[in-house]
Amino acid sequence: MRIAILSTNPDLYSTQRLLTAVRERNHEGVIVNHLNCHVMIEGGRPTVLLDGQELDQFDAIIPRIGASVTDYGCAVVRQFEMMKVFTTAKSQAIMRARNKLRSLQVLSKAGVGLPKTVIANHPKNGNVNRLIELVGGPPVVIKLLEGTQGIGVVLAETAKAARSTIEAFYGLKKHVLVQEFIAEARGSDIRAFVVGGKVVGAMRRQGIDGEFRSNLHRGGNAIPVILTEQEEQTAINASRALGLKVAGVDMLPSDRGPLVLEVNSSPGLEGIELATGINVAGHIIAYIEEKILGDESDMVGV
Ligand code: ADP
Repeated sequence: MRIAILSTNPDLYSTQRLLTAVRERNHEGVIVNHLNCHVMIEGGRPTVLLDGQELDQFDAIIPRIGASVTDYGCAVVRQFEMMKVFTTAKSQAIMRARNKLRSLQVLSKAGVGLPKTVIANHPKNGNVNRLIELVGGPPVVIKLLEGTQGIGVVLAETAKAARSTIEAFYGLKKHVLVQEFIAEARGSDIRAFVVGGKVVGAMRRQGIDGEFRSNLHRGGNAIPVILTEQEEQTAINASRALGLKVAGVDMLPSDRGPLVLEVNSSPGLEGIELATGINVAGHIIAYIEEKILGDESDMVGV
């Protein structure tokens, strides 16, 4: 098979590991920088050009689309979809997962456990107090809607701190969500890696001392973990609800079971592979093989 990895940086751990896994399984692998692609729209014949040259047909693409270029990246993915190329992440699912508000709404509709969360459009003074009370009062977590890697995630221990943080964000014309603080998670969370509707590996991330955020980018560390049945099912349900076949599902362990924080559509491979020793990249390529060869064998005898 010919498999393209859509990535803006060939040196990234995830990009390199996927390329290696493609080659190890005897396929042809190409890294395509989606930002250098032109999408050509012409009646009935969609094409993608790279540096002015029409790209040869691929059997599959693996989109690794960074948050800052979601819109353009998804336009390129959509073009490949129109060309009937198999993708490990559909453009619509990436867009949905990237929108924190929309994805929380979809997850809640699917009955996935979530921390209590409120969102408001520029609340007036009195309403700020109501927002804080709605999620059970302080301490609360305030999150910038467009934040990633733990940046723009603030723990406000008192109502006063929460009010000034919310007002500061609104003053900067930023939208936030206010969430109940899950104290019993004690600065740790769980990342479950889902491939083809199954959990292939999971790790527990622990923030550095005195830090409630467990992001590895914030200095946290990771250890492999065996999920409870409920955690495994939650990760599967969350990725299915968002239509993602390959996903990193972040969950907080809580007294009322796992609560999903976020579902990542281009989850990094470095943290999970180094923590667990699992060949996650290999699982992704095996999943593509299963889909494409499965589809072919389905057609035998038709
Ligand atoms: P980002 O998408 O920027 O990583 P998250 O919502 O995942 O933001 O939050 C970053 C980290 O902060 C999480 O991994 C978790 O450790 C911690 N955290 C986030 N929300 C809560 C919460 N409601 N209660 C307790 N800890 C939280």
